[in-house]
Amino acid sequence: MDADERKVQDPVCDMMVDPGQLAVTHLGMHFAFCSEQCRQRFLSNPNLYIGSVAHKVPKQQGREVLKRRRLKLSEPLPGGWVVH
Ligand SMILES: [Zn+2]
Repeated sequence: MDADERKVQDPVCDMMVDPGQLAVTHLGMHFAFCSEQCRQRFLSNPNLYIGSVAHKVPKQQGREVLKRRRLKLSEPLPGGWVVH
């Protein structure tokens, strides 16, 4: 399984490819592609594919959810019970 760790994911078709294959560096990120077709697709609209990669690490989204939950918890309980 060591061979797999040296591969990177083609952001267009999700295939695992050699990091040096048709390599492109975009915004400091390294991408490799299984074919010239995938590379051209990426280059014509990089944000489409970078967006799906970044979506896997939604740090800010998690914080938003926490804030909303806190607001709900700090609401006074019905019946006059307020816990501080
Ligand atoms: Zn591909």
